Amino acid sequence: MSVLFPTYNRFNVAVAEAEGTTVIDENGKSYLDFGAGIGVCNLGHRHPSVQKAIEEQLQKYWHVSNLYHIPIQEDVGALLTNNSMGDCVFYCNSGAEANEAAIKLARKATGKTKIITCRQSFHGRTFATMSATGQEKIQEGFGPLLETFQYVPYNDIEAAKEAIDDSTAAVMLEVIQGEGGVIVGEESFLKQLEAICQEKDILLIIDEIQTGIGRTGKSFAYKHFCISPDIITVAKGLGNGIPVGGMIAKAKYRDVFGPGSHGTTFGGNPIAMASAKAVLQTVFQDEFLEDVTSKGNYLIKQLNEKLGNNPFVKDIRGKGLMIGIECKSDVSEIISNLIDKGLLVLNAGPRVIRLLPPLIVTKEEIDQAIQLMIEELAKKA
Ligand code: PLP
Repeated sequence: MSVLFPTYNRFNVAVAEAEGTTVIDENGKSYLDFGAGIGVCNLGHRHPSVQKAIEEQLQKYWHVSNLYHIPIQEDVGALLTNNSMGDCVFYCNSGAEANEAAIKLARKATGKTKIITCRQSFHGRTFATMSATGQEKIQEGFGPLLETFQYVPYNDIEAAKEAIDDSTAAVMLEVIQGEGGVIVGEESFLKQLEAICQEKDILLIIDEIQTGIGRTGKSFAYKHFCISPDIITVAKGLGNGIPVGGMIAKAKYRDVFGPGSHGTTFGGNPIAMASAKAVLQTVFQDEFLEDVTSKGNYLIKQLNEKLGNNPFVKDIRGKGLMIGIECKSDVSEIISNLIDKGLLVLNAGPRVIRLLPPLIVTKEEIDQAIQLMIEELAKKA
């Protein structure tokens, strides 16, 4: 029996090694990885320039604490702020911590308490981020939750308007809901929300933990919708597998987090920073992002052509290389069968197959994955 808490229903794959888009198990079986560690290994496993950067940092120093200047934090911060609407960065170790920081900052900046989030959202598992998450199954058994979160239906501007009042500090949402089923936000909803937030001095926080770092073909997914949030939060793809998160905010919020107001021992760890710097130098290049867009368009077009007529498939949607295939009923058996056939894919809720391949995936690998999915989904048609 395992000594681990059974917090995950694990598939029968014991990983021995991984490189690029390939994962190899202890029996030597190879898998094409279309999950990338839940959207983490955006550059594939052990990308050479990331590995080199980590190895070089290992030879220098591993940890000294944020009591001292760690110059590489500024390098990563410059890459993040030069490629976003933000001006200042707070580093942490995970997505939940990044959102936690954003929630704290919004409350301190405004002196208000209510934070509006969306139904079906996912923002993390800490107490505040679990309370922010609009899914009862995540919260079950842990109540009472923090009371100052109010959930509104996604893409429903009237509901958002109704929820906003004088006690509202922030609106926090994903521009594409990941765990909630790969649901793409509507531009008109997001733009109207931005306008209301600006008018009423409410912070607009975009959770880019799954959508950021090139995943959708832009450095950050909010850019698809022509909005400029006050804060974005990142994690997952930032370190390509080395844990790191960040909150990126506009300049006017810099002094809200003065010395001693917020912190974490490991945030901005030099090894994580070395990894993040190499990731961002690679991903935040026009040609790289254009290639993600082109492969994403190819993937979604092929899926539509080849699965669009399958009566078991209800919808195919997404942006860049973040794609959901919504099916008529539960997809867990399909996912297990695909894994048996050597293709790692994810779910997003019970009925959506979620594809988050490494952004370095080739068209040949996309074709290979599509073929396996066609065969598996044909059994359900
Ligand atoms: N926010 C979003 C949109 C996520 O997809 C996730 C993780 O799946 C999180 C927050 C939480 O991140 P972490 O698991 O690193 O705490």
